[in-house]
Amino acid sequence: MGFTRRDFIKNSLLIGGSIFLPPTSIHAGQKKEEKRVPAYEKLEREGKLAQRIKEAYGIFERCHLCPRRCGVNRQKGEKGFCRAPVRPVVFGYHPHFGEEMALVGQNGSGTIFFSNCNLRCVFCQNWPISHEGRGKEVRDEDLAEMMIKLQKMGCHNINLVTPTHVMPNILNATRMALKKGLRLPLVYNTSGYERLEILKILDGIVDIYMPDMKYMDADRAAKYSAGASDYPEVTKKAIIEMNRQVGQLQIDQQGIVLRGLMIRHLVMPNRVAGTEKFVKWVVENLPKSTYVNIMAQYRVEYKAFDYPEIARGITVQEFLEAMEWTKRYGLTNLDPQSVATRNLYYHRRSE
Ligand code: SF4
Repeated sequence: MGFTRRDFIKNSLLIGGSIFLPPTSIHAGQKKEEKRVPAYEKLEREGKLAQRIKEAYGIFERCHLCPRRCGVNRQKGEKGFCRAPVRPVVFGYHPHFGEEMALVGQNGSGTIFFSNCNLRCVFCQNWPISHEGRGKEVRDEDLAEMMIKLQKMGCHNINLVTPTHVMPNILNATRMALKKGLRLPLVYNTSGYERLEILKILDGIVDIYMPDMKYMDADRAAKYSAGASDYPEVTKKAIIEMNRQVGQLQIDQQGIVLRGLMIRHLVMPNRVAGTEKFVKWVVENLPKSTYVNIMAQYRVEYKAFDYPEIARGITVQEFLEAMEWTKRYGLTNLDPQSVATRNLYYHRRSE
């Protein structure tokens, strides 16, 4: 597998950082003509972007940006479950070569890593950032400048990692950056724990949604993600809305994503993630050609040691059965790296 988020963190520098070597191949799939105008630019031309930013900023006064619906006034310095201030806290930003190949291409995915999180899972691989909020508080102007720098470095997109609690800042920064020449599509790289009303503000702004689908069972979501028993139902609705907004994956002639939905699902030990249910749900609710990344890189991190059922990595058999379910239920657009991992495991077994 490629670099993980942990590798990203390990290698990155605060506000700026190193550049990894690119992978040797990129995702191949349905090819469309290159789309050069990002969604937010069209919305700006229609005179609607400023209003969306105003609407989003208003939410800070009684924060309900996510399903936790804390109701705190972040403009006045109050903090809710995510502990995020009203200004974004950024851990790092730079071209990232560990994401899906269709985001990475030759020049990397322009990743901005936000601190704090509204989900706070016990197995979080980024806990110093997501749980403890390590990073540097920045202004929206600084965020806009980061976007422009990533574009100048040749990145193919602006990849916003854990964006939910700073969505208004992101919109504001995007408009500022647009005025300075930003033309890259936004990747909304989220845990999936999103409110429908909030996603509707993003309609016509975000080109690429990349949600996780972590679990299919309410009890497990509550147990491992700080009481978020509504995670499966909320996230299912969110993903359907994301698909309505951006649809199936569109890539350019170089194999780079221009627009569309990319779902990530991390296989967990002892079937904790409910992978079979997840695959079945995708097939029953979305096109079979929906891009899905079945991820094998679960590692025991943070407080996962306290939960025996998730206190080990996954076995080869657990990953292979997950991939078997994708075949049985008929998913047709799997991430190439997950397919390569499956093939490698089969090859090793047959040796
Ligand atoms: S974004 Fe943070 S403060 Fe706002 S509702 Fe969610 S957890 Fe609460």
